[in-house]
Amino acid sequence: MALVVQKYGGTSVGTIEKIRNVARRVARTYDEGNDVVVIVSAMSGETNKLVALAEEMCEFPSEREYDVLVSTGEQVTIALLSMCLQDMGYKAKSYLGHQIPIITDSASSRARILEIGEENIREDLKNGTIVVVAGFQGVDAQGNITTLGRGGSDTSAVAVAAGLKADVCEIYTDVDGIYTTDPRIVPNASKLEKISYEEMLEMASLGAKVLQIRSVEFADKYNVVIHVRSSFNDNPGTLVMKEDADMETVLVSGVTCNKDEAKISVRGIPDKPGIAAGIFVPLSEANITVDMIIQNVSLDGFTDITFTVPKGDLKKAMKIVEGVLEDIGAKGVECDDKVAKISIIGVGMRSHSGVASKMFTTLSQEGINIQMISTSEIKVSCIIEDKYTELAVRVLHDAFELGSDD
Ligand code: ADP
Ligand code: ASP
Ligand code: MG
Repeated sequence: MALVVQKYGGTSVGTIEKIRNVARRVARTYDEGNDVVVIVSAMSGETNKLVALAEEMCEFPSEREYDVLVSTGEQVTIALLSMCLQDMGYKAKSYLGHQIPIITDSASSRARILEIGEENIREDLKNGTIVVVAGFQGVDAQGNITTLGRGGSDTSAVAVAAGLKADVCEIYTDVDGIYTTDPRIVPNASKLEKISYEEMLEMASLGAKVLQIRSVEFADKYNVVIHVRSSFNDNPGTLVMKEDADMETVLVSGVTCNKDEAKISVRGIPDKPGIAAGIFVPLSEANITVDMIIQNVSLDGFTDITFTVPKGDLKKAMKIVEGVLEDIGAKGVECDDKVAKISIIGVGMRSHSGVASKMFTTLSQEGINIQMISTSEIKVSCIIEDKYTELAVRVLHDAFELGSDD
């Protein structure tokens, strides 16, 4: 007998019929002789509706009440799935985050899981009950409801699997696994049989929202193998696991895009110690995450600094930078939210050269201008004009021969 943790995302529980489909899959796993813990997301679109309601109610809703509101989508699906399983003759019981409890820190809307209470789950499993847990939510030490950030049910699932030392952690979604790029952009994208934690972490951070970044960090830390697969068929999916020797032979394993960043350029700054701190300290104090940063070589004692921030933080960031312009002696600041970040990822880059140059050549052949570049050991990212996003993904996918027919 194995302990199986399964997570079903929003599209897999988007209608009553789809919840019935999930119940049948869960029941089948149980009938095969396994203990089953199921984590579910809200029905697709529901969390977006809740976020929109909060925004309609006030400009800056209290963080505590925001989490109380947006966590409710999952309460609906755990109850419906448990009812359905009971109707089919199984013992099933739903749990909200605080009932498990899933203890988190107090960072509302981006809380981190600290501990999972095992007792209730173990007790239920012992008497043959299927345990159904609300994803995306937890409770802090003061008893406040918290949420884990968008896509957070993935992290709930991996954390529960790690906490219970489950034998299997399956993340069911609406595609068959992790692909070389978003299969909705490139229909001939290839499904990967396996991918290392490190590559998956880069892919998730660089725009592939198929897994929440933190779920991958968690899996890496606690050595949980994640099996990403479809809730609509029985095809084998993709294993997210420790790097092995085969993975290094692949030069590029994925292409991602991200349209959620905006670019800010501060012009004509006197080039002297302290100017970067003068800009980035106040941004970090305001909890704004800065991604790429480029400082130009100075010309006649003046330099420019360009960086990217999440689009949602652009207004706030511009206000802060405008506030420090005089202090740092800069001539001006401008921003552009019509940009996208295109990245190629692969652990094979560590041991092969020429990957970045091939990326630049490919983009230039399409007349796509590169505005910023950043690299790490296993990725290269370029900022380009956002209208070229899909084209760039397609031509890079082709250039690195990632298609299923290559
Ligand atoms: P769920 O509702 O199950 O959590 P998500 O919408 O969060 O599902 O994630 C699945 C989606 O991720 C897919 O429908 C796909 O469009 C998108 N996606 C982006 N990049 C990739 C990739 N490299 N491989 C697979 N799916 C990807
Ligand atoms: N329902 C939450 C969201 O839409 C969590 C999740 O689906 O993983 O972000
Ligand atoms: Mg998701």
